[in-house]
Amino acid sequence: MSEAGVLSRKADFPGLLTADGRPWHYLDTAASAQKPQKVIDAMTRALGEDYATVHRGVYGRSAQMTLGYEAARRRVAEFIGAEGEDEIVFVRGATEGINLVAQSWGAANLGEGDRIVLSMLEHHSNIVPWQMIAERTGAEIDVCPLTEDGRIDLGALEAILTPRTRMVALAHVSNVLGSVLDARAAADLAHSVGAKLLLDGCQSTPRMALDMKALACDFYVFSGHKLYGPTGIGVLWGRKALLEEMPPWQGGGAMIDKVAFDGTTYAPPPQRFEAGTPMITEAIALHAAIDYVAEQGPDRLFAHEAALARTLREELRSLNSVTLFGPEESAGIVSFALQGVHPHDLGTILDEEDVAIRAGHHCAQPLMEHLGVPATARASFGLYSDESDIAALLRGIERTLKIFG
Ligand code: PMP
Repeated sequence: MSEAGVLSRKADFPGLLTADGRPWHYLDTAASAQKPQKVIDAMTRALGEDYATVHRGVYGRSAQMTLGYEAARRRVAEFIGAEGEDEIVFVRGATEGINLVAQSWGAANLGEGDRIVLSMLEHHSNIVPWQMIAERTGAEIDVCPLTEDGRIDLGALEAILTPRTRMVALAHVSNVLGSVLDARAAADLAHSVGAKLLLDGCQSTPRMALDMKALACDFYVFSGHKLYGPTGIGVLWGRKALLEEMPPWQGGGAMIDKVAFDGTTYAPPPQRFEAGTPMITEAIALHAAIDYVAEQGPDRLFAHEAALARTLREELRSLNSVTLFGPEESAGIVSFALQGVHPHDLGTILDEEDVAIRAGHHCAQPLMEHLGVPATARASFGLYSDESDIAALLRGIERTLKIFG
């Protein structure tokens, strides 16, 4: 088996077959990953014979579920190299995690004339929450440009930073271009002016071994469904001292210390930020997903997918009628355009060939504007991807080029 094929475990993923049992070439993992059977089984058990709500431990099943839910928190902490599980806040997804930081930390720390730095390649989830809090607080947004080949330009970042910069929020890996940020350098730059660094880890968590201490950021968010887990759960990691200073953002059950009409007090983090009945079964299934990914070796994921991305770029380049976007060396995400073919038409024809790609603006309209295109076609890999997926994609592209003359 080739270097690029060593992680592929297609048989573990029931979603990688068509309804009538043919291989389905799923190249949209950056949008959402397929789930291994172990995750589906964990979720089914948690919804079935194990099910009860948490934090109401007068009966045994609930106490058991509470242990499972808190074990998931510990597993996340260990997986990302957090200092402890009290730095792990369960949220609905990365989008909610960024909104939480913007609304809670932002409302407490941003004022008139303060600056928030984002980059040109951010996902709308890492733009709009900041625009909303900027409007409320009078803060302003600066946009960090990209290098020619589509990486966040750290030289330009340094030039944009001012003593008024309070927050720098950047994608660790671009969901469109696959470019990888030198997170440590970005953290050092942000900290040199006293700003915080939030990393959008949606695309890095499923592709890299992570260590919060080494990254040296202040907040980190990711979504469970991109890490081979279920939808409806994600993680906000924050430095303990920062979380402790932050006010709650949603009120309700489970986030309080004591409630009275003359004044309510709040639980410490992470419970302070988990109002209401949490995503119990999703957390337990996320635990199973992390176990699965850990078995494959998180440090091998990046090389596996990067090799596939390299192969795909070489093949696409040899077709001559393809524009490639993004750096040569990237995570397993490749954006491209075929001359004279709208990405949606390509996506539709590929679907007939049992190949699933993404076509569109990928929730990164400012980046599309910067690239001068309305949309791109995007193939993204996962730990189950291999050369057979690339071959099927290339067959489909050749057929498309013939159809379009
Ligand atoms: N940031 C990036 C880089 C993403 O790729 C995505 C998902 N496409 C998000 C944020 C938002 O994630 P979610 O929709 O799961 O909250």
